[in-house]
Amino acid sequence: MEHKTDFLVVGSGLAGMSFALQVAEFGSVILLSKTNLEETNTWYAQGGIASVMYAPDNPEKHVQDTLIAGDGLCDEKIVRMVINEAPEQIKSLIGWGANFDKNTDGKFNLNREGGHSEYRILHHKDSTGVEIMRALSGRVRAHPNITIMEKSFALDLITQHHLGTPVFRGNPEIECYGAYTFDIENNRIDTILSKITLLATGGSGYIYQTTTNPPIATGDGIAMAYRAKAYVDHVEFFQFHPTSLYNPGERPSFLISEAVRGFGGILKTQDGEEFMNKYDPRGSLASRDIVARAIDTELKNRGEDFVNLDCTHIEPESLKTHFPNIYKKCLSIGIDMTRVPVPVVPAAHYFCGGIRTDENGQTTICNLYAAGEVACTGLHGANRLASNSLLEAVVFAHRAAIDSGRKLPKLNHQKEIPPWNDEGTRNPDEMVLITQGTRELQQIMTNYMGIVRTNARLKRALDRIYILYRETEELYGQSTVSVKLCELRNAIKVAYLIVKHARQRKESRGLHYNLDYPKQSKA
Ligand SMILES: Cc1cc2nc3c(=O)[nH]c(=O)nc-3n(C[C@H](O)[C@H](O)[C@H](O)COP(=O)(O)OP(=O)(O)OC[C@H]3O[C@@H](n4cnc5c(N)ncnc54)[C@H](O)[C@@H]3O)c2cc1C
Repeated sequence: MEHKTDFLVVGSGLAGMSFALQVAEFGSVILLSKTNLEETNTWYAQGGIASVMYAPDNPEKHVQDTLIAGDGLCDEKIVRMVINEAPEQIKSLIGWGANFDKNTDGKFNLNREGGHSEYRILHHKDSTGVEIMRALSGRVRAHPNITIMEKSFALDLITQHHLGTPVFRGNPEIECYGAYTFDIENNRIDTILSKITLLATGGSGYIYQTTTNPPIATGDGIAMAYRAKAYVDHVEFFQFHPTSLYNPGERPSFLISEAVRGFGGILKTQDGEEFMNKYDPRGSLASRDIVARAIDTELKNRGEDFVNLDCTHIEPESLKTHFPNIYKKCLSIGIDMTRVPVPVVPAAHYFCGGIRTDENGQTTICNLYAAGEVACTGLHGANRLASNSLLEAVVFAHRAAIDSGRKLPKLNHQKEIPPWNDEGTRNPDEMVLITQGTRELQQIMTNYMGIVRTNARLKRALDRIYILYRETEELYGQSTVSVKLCELRNAIKVAYLIVKHARQRKESRGLHYNLDYPKQSKA
């Protein structure tokens, strides 16, 4: 089936929904989600969204904190732009109905997280993402110009390649005409022709064994854009959150927000040693990469599976009031965090790199924009500062909406797009190959491409990924479309890009820590 729309938005998290709401004022919008509207990384965000609100904080302090975390690889112009535009975007979120906690004096209750020199995180208890999604999804569902397509999986972007013209990376004239999508419920491939396309497909945490990301995070957007010959950047920088709840068998791993450490929680080994002071004078509040590496080192040295986050010295009622969701979750597995320490391990959490964009979210392909976790805008550099990602998503969605709205009147739909070329005939009933391929990939990435890397591990990862790539492409070529197989194929592409970029970086910097280049940066 063929659909035509002015704007195609792939992804229903904060980036996709806030963009959709704004461009719906200019034209028709189709909004895709591969599962349901709410199943997004955005939904799981706990800590909040960073923005300078009151003195003694000021934009310069936020800028410096972001640059320090990014370890020399942030684009300073972009950092300043995003931080200056933050308060305006917070107003938009509030205008769409999102509530952030306030004190009795009517001012926002601001949290502080690792790497931030001031209290500047707006939050809704410890479930900020749920609140943002509640507000935005209500608006999106009610908007007459927005057609929502749930259980609709974007397979590939349409470019000149599909009209028979070869395209190559670096060619400034590649244009995006929309996407081929798979309507999961009707088992049908659709062609969606759009004048403007936004990729807002979120993260890639599912390429690792232990992750805080929901199963949708398989890196589809990056893989699609790369196949369409867009540029990607900084993909070697994958952030591991130091403290996810150690609960073997649970996927995704439940996050114990950094705000708990900001509130006084202290990391200890199982025998009660406060180990973080050995690694950084900031102790348990050092930046995420340092804490994650310290935990990784302690676990490997001691041969243990988790460390503890001790909150038993904090006044119980205020702990429960500030972190009701975390308290409830721990209690559900028999841990009363006011009385006993919480067992935690690092987990793959945030993809700092992605599809390269300019200051308006425009990618290197004409009429293709990217915003949110899928994009590499220059804000995060080699390491993301906590709670800057929701901010990045909403700022770039806004800029992309303004920029693309301006272009829309000059654009037409491309004609004569051929239907999806599906040569495969075999039902991919070999689910074992797909399931085990996914597990193998996650093991490779966890064992060789995790928090600590070496050149030999990178080489092994590349060799193993190549074998999986060959086998999966063969299966894909023979099969009819299957979401699981497409996700595996995309995840392999992203894993390959991470390893390739990691091998090119001959230094340790930010989140890329390679023991063969021991000179470590200051972040
Ligand atoms: C547990 C957790 C806690 C976090 N806490 C914070 C925090 O406190 N502060 C902060 O700033 N950041 C936080 N983050 C990061 C932040 O939540 C994400 O970076 C951000 O929400 C990403 O938003 P997004 O709109 O880019 O993508 P997402 O919200 O992940 O949305 C992705 C969308 O893309 C769709 N999609 C993907 N592939 C396809 C496809 N092939 N076809 C169709 N649709 C597709 C999905 O269905 C989904 O709708 C947290 C992340 C996690 C996992």
